[in-house]
Amino acid sequence: MKRDYYEVLGIARTASAEEIKRAYRKLALKFHPDRNPDDKEAEERFKEAAEAYEVLSDPQKRGRYDQYGFAGLNNGEFGGFNRSTEDIFSAFSDLFEDFFGFSAGGRRSGAGPENGSDLRFDLVISFEEAAKGTEKEIEIERLEVCQVCSGTGAADGSQTVTCPTCGGSGHVVRNEGFFRVSSTCHHCSGRGTIITNPCPECKGLGRTIQQKRVVIRIPAGVDTGSRLRLRNEGEAGLRGGIRGDLYVVIHVEAHEFFQRQGKDIYCKIPVPMTLAAMGGEIEVDTINGKETIKIPAGTQPGEIFRLKGLGMPDLRGFAPGDQLIEVEVKIPKRLTERQIELLQEFQEIEKEKEKGVFQKIFKKVGFK
Ligand SMILES: [Zn+2]
Ligand SMILES: [Zn+2]
Repeated sequence: MKRDYYEVLGIARTASAEEIKRAYRKLALKFHPDRNPDDKEAEERFKEAAEAYEVLSDPQKRGRYDQYGFAGLNNGEFGGFNRSTEDIFSAFSDLFEDFFGFSAGGRRSGAGPENGSDLRFDLVISFEEAAKGTEKEIEIERLEVCQVCSGTGAADGSQTVTCPTCGGSGHVVRNEGFFRVSSTCHHCSGRGTIITNPCPECKGLGRTIQQKRVVIRIPAGVDTGSRLRLRNEGEAGLRGGIRGDLYVVIHVEAHEFFQRQGKDIYCKIPVPMTLAAMGGEIEVDTINGKETIKIPAGTQPGEIFRLKGLGMPDLRGFAPGDQLIEVEVKIPKRLTERQIELLQEFQEIEKEKEKGVFQKIFKKVGFK
């Protein structure tokens, strides 16, 4: 004989929705199969309470039950209960989530895989290294799986037991007025298990900080701010979690002679006044050694010469940049007597030349 639903939940026929919920929660916690392993009677009481709650928490079903008793529910739409505990979990998933802090499908275990964190390393390289590419060995500190306990966190022979504080869920639920607040269990840090005798090396954490050497291949063309991603060179994961990555952030040192402008390399070269005027050749530094460039006669200050392909290599394999050479005409600061004489003579000739030019212009426009 089925017991009356109100009797099952131990409430009055006039109970409010909130009272129904509260009563069910109390029973569900009391007879929960996890707390009463292999207890048939508890399982029955648990199912019975779930059935009563399913009906009484639904105003329509509750109305029919109040009017017709069990008969009001056996109309096909509601086929009575013959459910396993699993079904009950599915049917009330949100409620159970609310009550116990885990979902219907099983425990929301905190003991799942934990991925290792990504790491960042700032690496300073020279301008030449950025232009040519290089290989660097760095030393980093990162969390690695503990070599003593192989990541279990347990000392030899020690056991892992279900956390008594949270019952293995990794969460604790407490009431705050009308709200139920679920928070991570502090006793087990959300893992749901505790170790009776923690590994002395890692204090039960499963990982320790270790020094590791990592070789970084830096491709030619990197710039300040370039980020290289080294897969699986971050911190180790736990319980099958994947390793993090290592991000190397490049900082290129300033160069005394070269300046980077996008893919181009810019520099200034001093050219003697006489060379700029008469033309000639001059040697310049490039990232590939010395190059000789031709300075044509009459080169002006600020003129730019271009050495094709001698800029920065392109990271994606496109054409490299160029080297841009800006001419800086050097005016002598101190002159000898003789140089002054020569320059005065030079000046006279320039004046003559100018006169000549003007006379030509005057002729053209018809003066005189
Ligand atoms: Zn250990
Ligand atoms: Zn716990």
